[in-house]
Amino acid sequence: MARFKIGLDSGHSLQTNGKETPFIPELGRKIKEYEFNNAVKYKLMIAVNRCGMDYADLDPGDADIPLAQRSAKANVEKCDILISIHYNALDDKWDNNKGGLCVFHYPNSVEGRKLATCIHKYLRQGTKQLDRGVLSANFHMVRVPKMPAVLSENGFMDDRFEASLMLKESFQLEVAEEHCMGICEYLGVPYVKIDVSTPPVNSGGGSIPNPTPGTSMDKTEFMNEVKGVTEMLKVGSRGPEVENLQIDLTKLGYDTKGTDGIFGNNTKIAVIAFQADHKLSQDGIVGVNTQRFLESVMAAPRDSLAKEIDALKAKIIALNNTIGIYQNKLVAIKNIVEGK
Ligand SMILES: [Zn+2]
Repeated sequence: MARFKIGLDSGHSLQTNGKETPFIPELGRKIKEYEFNNAVKYKLMIAVNRCGMDYADLDPGDADIPLAQRSAKANVEKCDILISIHYNALDDKWDNNKGGLCVFHYPNSVEGRKLATCIHKYLRQGTKQLDRGVLSANFHMVRVPKMPAVLSENGFMDDRFEASLMLKESFQLEVAEEHCMGICEYLGVPYVKIDVSTPPVNSGGGSIPNPTPGTSMDKTEFMNEVKGVTEMLKVGSRGPEVENLQIDLTKLGYDTKGTDGIFGNNTKIAVIAFQADHKLSQDGIVGVNTQRFLESVMAAPRDSLAKEIDALKAKIIALNNTIGIYQNKLVAIKNIVEGK
């Protein structure tokens, strides 16, 4: 029996304008919709393979491929179904909407609606999000392909919580596995559970966090995880991270007056001096930006540091020479005064 072939589309590209979150201070940048879509696409490729299905990558690489080319490829490759992965946005302003997920199909497509319903069933089972339901729309990617096609919007880029999920590998994996479960159900293929001991094959790096597709993921659990990534060190912070910060700053010549793991005023002054030297905003708080600069300075080749030390040594030698000259002069003056 021929294997099913799933057409997979990651929606946009890195170059697509406007498809991004509002600026995220903790991250020091915006997140592109494509970063999420593409990560999920790769995880979904692995998942459908694991379940004995093939896929066609409708937008391989990072190039901006026109929609017509994506849908044409799905038709040429004779995909059995098509999935276009997306992340929604309301108005590019924070906190104006409650986020949520939905799955679109073409208005008159009975099979498209069935497929959308299957995927939606699993998508709503994971991380708690507002359920915006199974919807129909006249989108290119659900209209032009000849096979049943759906377009999933897996969250909102301008909802703070959902934006914070976009780069979380555990959430990406959850969304991919939920899509896979829906695909399996629609096609009547047994869903093969993910093997946690198998290392991830995709981009993104790091290990796959304990995946719990289809099970309930608590929102606060995620928030804590997200906070862990973006936690800022500031006056009042304590612990090994503060101690590491103090050790690094001291090594770089910013005196924190000790490395006790307590972020006090001296550490704040040292942080501000570091920020000033690196043209960062001088708030005395170690957020992602300052942390990044600190890491890159610490990781700078020893060569440049060695050169600086050599230059300092040269200055000390020069100073010693100067002192020697004056000492000789003093001796001469003393001799004159004492009439020797
Ligand atoms: Zn999109």
